[in-house]
Amino acid sequence: MKVTKKARKEAVRALISSVPIGVFFTEDQVIEFNVLTKCNFKTVEHALNFKFPTDPSHLHCDGDCFSWTSAIDAKPEDVYNREKAHKAMREAISLQIAHAKTYLPQFCENCGSSDTDKLHVDHVNPPFHLIADGFIDLHGLPLLARYQCGVQVLKENDYSAKWMEYHDHSAVYQTLCRSCNSSKGGRIK
Ligand SMILES: [Zn+2]
Repeated sequence: MKVTKKARKEAVRALISSVPIGVFFTEDQVIEFNVLTKCNFKTVEHALNFKFPTDPSHLHCDGDCFSWTSAIDAKPEDVYNREKAHKAMREAISLQIAHAKTYLPQFCENCGSSDTDKLHVDHVNPPFHLIADGFIDLHGLPLLARYQCGVQVLKENDYSAKWMEYHDHSAVYQTLCRSCNSSKGGRIK
């Protein structure tokens, strides 16, 4: 019988709620968790979600924050890996973004707001995920190194160096305020 994603999520939620926050799963619970999420973790801890403290089902798996719902929702194996790769690739170009911020207009290029606390550097076109996918299509998925809770970084090697160069050549930026950035959708290209 095929177990639906919904049923697997309910089972994981029940598993998590049986373990108090700050406590590690027992060996049997880890095995059950791995079967339900098709993962292969050694340790699972029911953890406090610092970003969203009311989140009742946050986990640290092998020491890192882990989105078990995305793991269950992932379709082909590599969709999930690609998502992780994109995050690490974004982290790798954070210095380029910080540098761009120093020479870009210090106001929102859509609405004119100059509330500097709320200004973001945005990829005009192509969007970041297409730049990253273009690179992955050429060079394959990157090797990731663990860094700290929730943030995985690229292993430093030729790949990461090439990626930074590729991104630097491909990216076109604009300054947007937070609200224009989040309502951007497909409108501003
Ligand atoms: Zn704006």
